Amino acid sequence: VAIEVVAETGSTNADLLARVATLPGPLLRIAERQTAGRGRAGRPWLSAPGASLTFSLAWRFKGPVRNLVGLPLAVGVALAETIVGLGVPVRLKWPNDLLRDGDKLAGILVEMQSAPDGAIWAVIGAGINLLMPDRLEQDIGRSVAAAPWLAQMERNLLVATLLSRLAAVLAEFDDTGFAAFCERWNALHAWRDREVSIVDGGRVLQQGRAAGVDAIGRLLLDTAAGRVEILSGDVSLRLA
Ligand code: ATP
Repeated sequence: VAIEVVAETGSTNADLLARVATLPGPLLRIAERQTAGRGRAGRPWLSAPGASLTFSLAWRFKGPVRNLVGLPLAVGVALAETIVGLGVPVRLKWPNDLLRDGDKLAGILVEMQSAPDGAIWAVIGAGINLLMPDRLEQDIGRSVAAAPWLAQMERNLLVATLLSRLAAVLAEFDDTGFAAFCERWNALHAWRDREVSIVDGGRVLQQGRAAGVDAIGRLLLDTAAGRVEILSGDVSLRLA
């Protein structure tokens, strides 16, 4: 995987999406400062230089990509297992967040693009809070988490550790899809057996007990009317 580091850019995901047609192979782009970072559905991802790690990985899939629902979840497994291994206890919130003590430590944004040669590329962005910059929580409007322990690590080593696990997970995902990661995701599930709501905008679509994810990455929700499977789309999860 080639690696490039830029001092500042709008969004590393946007940068790579514009370039996949011309990339010879996988590329990791790290921005020391991201001025227009985004989450799903155009929601903002905020970060401050020195206080966070923001990067995107452009990855070319070998085969047809099966059940894309599972891809951000597999990425979550890669990042969470690595961060836990480095000594910071994090858990996964479906579909795309890492929580520490219930607050968001990191977010994942996966966007897909097909190249002119028919190849499917995923651009996988991650933002990880290392330190808590002034005003971050006020600007977001809720409490978030940081990991000062990771900020003390040599930055290149931190990136290399995350990247090597991520690349291994993506290669495996290419071969087997999400099935191989289902158990690993469930072992890190933050809200297992908690009452949660599925919300879209401000609207509650479903409510029930979170029972984990299935082999394609759908959230299993035990509702009053029985078990339902939630396919990502753009819904968000809240504790009920
Ligand atoms: P949630 O369920 O937490 O609202 P989501 O998964 O539905 O998240 P995303 O689109 O993945 O939302 O992430 C964008 C959201 O993350 C923003 O709307 C904001 O609430 C929050 N956010 C933005 N920057 C940060 C940050 N540095 N740390 C933690 N949370 C952030």
